[in-house]
Amino acid sequence: MKIYDITAPIYEGMSVYKNKPEKQPSITQKTNGHVTESRICLDVHTGTHVDAPLHMMNEGKTIETIKIEQLVRPCKVIDLTEVNEKITAIDLQKKDIQKDDFILLKTKNSFDKKFNFDFIYLAEDAAHYLVDVGIAGVAIDALGIERSQTNHPTHRALLGNDITIIEGVQLADVQARSYFMVAAPLPIQGTDAAPARIILIDGAF
Ligand SMILES: [Zn+2]
Repeated sequence: MKIYDITAPIYEGMSVYKNKPEKQPSITQKTNGHVTESRICLDVHTGTHVDAPLHMMNEGKTIETIKIEQLVRPCKVIDLTEVNEKITAIDLQKKDIQKDDFILLKTKNSFDKKFNFDFIYLAEDAAHYLVDVGIAGVAIDALGIERSQTNHPTHRALLGNDITIIEGVQLADVQARSYFMVAAPLPIQGTDAAPARIILIDGAF
């Protein structure tokens, strides 16, 4: 059995969406004699995280309503490292993607060392293709699943059809095949996303 931790470390100065300073985490630490306590101030979309429908829809469901069975389950890493700019429906049609799959899209993004404003994203037609196939969820190795699309049609198509989105996974060391995934967002009640530890398990256990 091999375990892959595909979670981005959280620290002040980490990569955040579009390098916006207001999205940086702040971590303060107090030591009083032998007792140390830290406090964090974190955007819920920091690093590796799960998006909830509320993120893009005013009446959408919140993060704690996503069933843990939706996130702790078999999954498939799909190799799209040959793709430039954006993943389209044609790119996905060539891959083995079936109804109820939870897929992780491995792109060139996994090899970026800092925030790349031209990150590879999931195009609107690809999102509609995944809705038609009827997948359960999709993860991408960028801090956003889309960019440069007015009104966020990729997020809306997926979240509007109860397809879970995970952003910010790190797949550089992960081969394209099936794994058992443990994705565990913190149950921060009533929010539109939550940071998550995400682990892929390969082999029998
Ligand atoms: Zn997000």
